[in-house]
Amino acid sequence: MEIRKGLEVFGIVQGVGFRPYVYRLATELRLTGNITNTAAGVAIEIQGSPEAVQGFLARLPAEAPPLARITSVAIRELPAGQDHDVGFQILASRAGEERQVLISPDVAVCADCLRELFDPADRRYHYPFINCTNCGPRYTIVRDIPYDRARTSMAAFRMCPPCQREYDDPLNRRFHAQPNACWDCGPRVELWDNGGKLVAASDPIAEAAAQLRAGRIVAVKGLGGFHLAADATNPSAVGSLRERKRRVEKPFAIMAPNLEAIEGFCEVDEAARRLLLSSQRPIVLLPRKPGVPIAEAVAPYNQYLGAFLPYTPLHHLLFACHPTGFQALVMTSGNISEEPIAIGNEEAVRRLGALADFLLVHNRDILLRSDDSVLRVVGGRARQWRRSRGYVPVPVFLREPVPPVLAVGGELKNTLCLTRGRHAFLSQHIGDLENLESYRFFEEAAGHLQRILEVEPGMVAYDLHPDYFSTRWALARTDLERVGVQHHHAHIASCMAENHLEGRVVGFALDGTGYGTDGHIWGGEVLVADYREFIRAAHLAYVPMPGGAAAIHEPWRMAVAYLAQHFGRNFLGFQIPFVRQLDPRRVETLLRMLERKVNSPLTSGCGRLFDAVAALAGVRQQVNYEAQAAIELEMLLDDADRGAPYPLAVAEDGDALLLDTRPLFEALVRDLCHAVPASAISRRFHQGLVEALARVAGLVRQRTGLNRVCLSGGTFQNVYLLEHLEERLRSEDFEVFTHAEVPPGDGGLSLGQALVAAHRIG
Ligand code: ZN
Ligand code: ZN
Ligand code: FE
Repeated sequence: MEIRKGLEVFGIVQGVGFRPYVYRLATELRLTGNITNTAAGVAIEIQGSPEAVQGFLARLPAEAPPLARITSVAIRELPAGQDHDVGFQILASRAGEERQVLISPDVAVCADCLRELFDPADRRYHYPFINCTNCGPRYTIVRDIPYDRARTSMAAFRMCPPCQREYDDPLNRRFHAQPNACWDCGPRVELWDNGGKLVAASDPIAEAAAQLRAGRIVAVKGLGGFHLAADATNPSAVGSLRERKRRVEKPFAIMAPNLEAIEGFCEVDEAARRLLLSSQRPIVLLPRKPGVPIAEAVAPYNQYLGAFLPYTPLHHLLFACHPTGFQALVMTSGNISEEPIAIGNEEAVRRLGALADFLLVHNRDILLRSDDSVLRVVGGRARQWRRSRGYVPVPVFLREPVPPVLAVGGELKNTLCLTRGRHAFLSQHIGDLENLESYRFFEEAAGHLQRILEVEPGMVAYDLHPDYFSTRWALARTDLERVGVQHHHAHIASCMAENHLEGRVVGFALDGTGYGTDGHIWGGEVLVADYREFIRAAHLAYVPMPGGAAAIHEPWRMAVAYLAQHFGRNFLGFQIPFVRQLDPRRVETLLRMLERKVNSPLTSGCGRLFDAVAALAGVRQQVNYEAQAAIELEMLLDDADRGAPYPLAVAEDGDALLLDTRPLFEALVRDLCHAVPASAISRRFHQGLVEALARVAGLVRQRTGLNRVCLSGGTFQNVYLLEHLEERLRSEDFEVFTHAEVPPGDGGLSLGQALVAAHRIG
C-alpha cells in the first residue's frame, strides 16, 4: 500500500542545490511526487511505501546539501494518488513567490570543485572562479532579489554553451549556480603594480606568489574585499605591513594552506577543527604552540593566533603555485587602521596603493563588502567574536514574530539589524564609526539590507549615547518612529533573543563603555530586565575617568583614579613598582583633575576596572587597541595559583546593590608590596570577580525570585570569566544563558535594540 505526504520546508533551501538533491533522494527511494519553490521555501509531495516515505523523512534533513539550512518542516497527510505520478518531478517555481526566501551567505569552495580545480583533465583546471550550487560567492555579489544571475555582479558575463548546459540541467551540480563560469566565459585575474598598471605575467597568481615569497606585500581581492597578504614567516615583511597599515600590536590573522599546517602552529581541538573546516571558513582564535616559525610581529604579546583556511579557489592556487608553497600568509583586511575593507579595483589602488607593492585583482565585482568572521571555541561551543562573511545574511531565528524594526547598533564594532517576522537579520561587521568611509559603509549596508529583504521598517532603534554617529543618523530619520535603547539593556535583550527567552531575567552586562540613563558611563551592570524594560539591580561603584577618553587609552590613569578614590593621596607613599614608576608631574596633573572633578566623567565600566588592575600589575600602562590591557591580563593568568581571591564588598544603595572595589584594591596593593607575580594577581582578581558576581546573583534571586541569568557585554570575551562564572552559577542552580550566534560585545548590540524596540511598541 502506498502513502502520500506533503512537506513544507522552510529555511535556506533555494539556490543551494536543494531541488536536485530532493530529486535524487526521491528517485533513489523510488518515490513519486514533485517539488517546487514557494514563497517561504520549498513544497514537496512524495508517495510510496510507508518504509520508503519514512526513509525519505529521516534522510531529508540529515543529507541536505551543505549550504541548505532547514529551519523547520511541516508535514501533512495526503490521500495517495491512484493515477500514479510520472516519477518524481521538479516543477517550475510559482511566479512572484520568491519573496520571503533567505539568501545564502558566501561559501568556501567545495571538495568537488577543488578536485576539478587541480585536475589537469578538467575544463576548469586552475580556473580561479570555479564554483557550483554547493559553493562560491552569494551575498557579496547580490545587487537585488530574487537571487538570479541578472541581479548579481555575474550579470556582466554571458555563459558559454557548456556552462549554460550545466546551468539548465537539474541533475548537474551547477544547476542554477548563478556565478557559474569557466575560462571561456567568466571573470579573469590580473596582477597590477601599486599604481594600477598591469604587470605582464603568463600566470598572475604565480607571479603574486613569487612576489610574496620575496617579502613583498600583495593586496589580494577575495570574496568580501581585499586582503593585504604577506609571508607570515618573514619578520621584515610582516613588520613593514604593520608600519604601512598603521596598526600597532593588534594581532593579524594568518591563512595556512591546510589543517595540518595550522595544527603545526596551534593547539586545535575537535570543535576548533570542525570550525576551521566548516564551509564558512572563519578565522578561529587558537592557542599558539611555542617556537613556531611565525614572525613575532604577527601577534605580539599574544598567546593566541587567529588562523583560517583558504576559502576561494584563488587562495588555493596562491598556496599551490610553488613546489614548497607558503607555511602561512598574513591575511589582514585591506584597509588603513579601522577603516572599512576595500572592495573595488580602482578603490584598492587609491586606498591600498601605499600599503601594498602589488594588487592581485579580478573583474568580478564585489557588491557588498564583508570582512572575515572571527570565532572562538569556549566550553565546546563555537562563539562569534565578529560575525560577518559566511554567516551573514543567515538570520537569528526568533521565538516570536516581531514588527519590522531597523536597529542601528552602537559606535564600535557596529552592526545593523533588520527584523522580518521571526527573523532578525544582522548586517556584516561594519566596524568603528569613526571616519567618513565607515559612515558611508553604514548607510550602504542599511540600504542594501532593506532592499534585499524588502522590508520597510516602521521604527528605528538606537543607542542613548547622543554623540554616536548611529544615534544621530537614527534621530534624523523623522519618517520613522524612533526608539532609544539603553546600551546594557540592549546587550541583555540580545542574549535573551538568541536564547529564545521570554519574561524577566537577571542580566549581567559587563563591558567598557555604554551610556547610562543617569548620564554616567555604565559598564559593570546587573539588570533585571525583560524585552520592554529594565531595573538596574546592581552595579560597580562609580570611579572618575581622569581625562575622559584618554583614560581608555592609558590604563595607568584608571589605576591612579582607583587608588586615589580608595586611599586619597596616601597611595603616593605605597612601596609598589607602579607608584615608583609614575611620572610625578603627570600624576600631579591627574590628581588635580580628579580633585577638581574636571574632565573626569564617572564610570562603572568593568573594562576600566580590568585596565586599572592590569596597570597596577605592570601588564600595560597604555593600549594600542581596544581591551588590550584586559586581554593581556587574562592571558598571563596562572590557574595553579591558590592565593585568596580579591574580595569586593556588596553594599545597599537604595533599592540597588553597589559593588565596592575598595577591599579588592587593598588586597591587590598588599600583594604588590609582597612582590606577588602578575600571573597570580590576574587569577586572584578574576576569581574575586567571579565570586562577587555570583554573590550578587544570589542576592538578586532572593529579592526577585528570578533564576535565569544572561551573560552579555564585551567583557565576556574573557574566557576565564565566562567559563568560571557560568560554572559557578550553574553549581548554585541558576539557569545560565550566554552568546554563541552573535558576539557578546557591541557587534551584538543591534539585535537587542531591535527586540527592545519591537516590544515597546508592539
Ligand atoms: Zn563547488
Ligand atoms: Zn563557460
Ligand atoms: Fe557594550
